[in-house]
Amino acid sequence: MGKIILTGDRPTGRLHVGHYVGSLKRRVELQNSGEYEKVLIMIADAQALTDNFENPEKVRQNIIEVALDYLSVGLDPTKSTLFIQSMVPELTEMTFYYMNLVTVSRLQRNPTVKSEIQMRNFEASIPVGFFCYPISQAADITAFKATTVPVGEDQLPMIEQTREIVRKFNSVYGETLVEPDVLLPDNKACLRLPGIDGMAKMSKSLGNCIYLADDPEDVRKKIMSMYTDPLHIQVSDPGHIEGNTVFTYLDAFCKPEDFAEFWPEYASLDELKEHYQRGGLGDVKVKKFLNKVIQAELEPIRARRKEYEKDIPAVYEILKAGSERARELAAQTLDEMKKAMKINYFDDLDLIKAQAQKYQGE
Ligand code: ATP
Ligand code: MG
Repeated sequence: MGKIILTGDRPTGRLHVGHYVGSLKRRVELQNSGEYEKVLIMIADAQALTDNFENPEKVRQNIIEVALDYLSVGLDPTKSTLFIQSMVPELTEMTFYYMNLVTVSRLQRNPTVKSEIQMRNFEASIPVGFFCYPISQAADITAFKATTVPVGEDQLPMIEQTREIVRKFNSVYGETLVEPDVLLPDNKACLRLPGIDGMAKMSKSLGNCIYLADDPEDVRKKIMSMYTDPLHIQVSDPGHIEGNTVFTYLDAFCKPEDFAEFWPEYASLDELKEHYQRGGLGDVKVKKFLNKVIQAELEPIRARRKEYEKDIPAVYEILKAGSERARELAAQTLDEMKKAMKINYFDDLDLIKAQAQKYQGE
């Protein structure tokens, strides 16, 4: 059986450079590698509603933003299926059956859910839908028999939960579902890119993002305001690299050839880091370099976005066609699941015959 990719994003805002290095860039490489039989990319609107149920307009508005971001980074609708989660109702049906296979205490132990509950002040009363979203995520992945899920590090506990559900389902009902593997970024700085404020994670919900669609001046301002090393006060002071957001971003974005192009005084990032640690190199210079590196990465993305923005109805058509295709695939898996779970009464002619015989025999 061929390898299949499923991954996605919540339409709670535009996509940012954390998404880009954590997942989007990898997806495009995988899509173009030709090694995957299917690549499915989902806009997780139903999941977004679990903690934005009072704000449906926000979710609705961001569908097109996320779709434009997808197309602008190079996801190609002729190679990948781009679809909207709620347009595939089979996913909800699967979630309902998976709920039987998971305990409340198991969900409570999920570290990502724990920290998200804290971030959203849900401690006192957690909406059941939000609490269960790891189960619905298992449905999203297994519906397409995905083998590979390219995501950032925060998603590890979700994939583990999915794997447990698959094992449980297969052991109770017989071999039906496929256990997925997670694919994390190779580059450590990309596992969980910090926000420009130095907070642990760049996140739409924390408002500390550089968005893919930001204009060059906004990006420059954000970079110049970035958190660095609070102990590096005078240029001559030795600087620290650890926990210094500007250097984490350089680790995530800088390519060896960027030095020849933008800062030939240094041969490599290691050399730049050494100088900073020795003292005598100011933050502003490093930030200006980072700005050039990031602008060069974002420029083609912005240009492609502008092209797609000219024909918005065509973008909705891409999502519609993708959702229809995704629905066909999910329906096939749901059929197999129902058969395994013995809830396919009308398709099972042997069952009907056996019941008939039982009563005729009486
Ligand atoms: P929200 O705050 O609404 O949860 P988010 O910014 O966390 O939004 P998601 O849509 O939840 O974004 O995440 C989509 C994908 O991007 C996931 O695979 C996630 O691991 C990855 N991702 C999100 N933020 C980062 C980050 N800062 N660094 C690396 N990967 C990230
Ligand atoms: Mg998130």
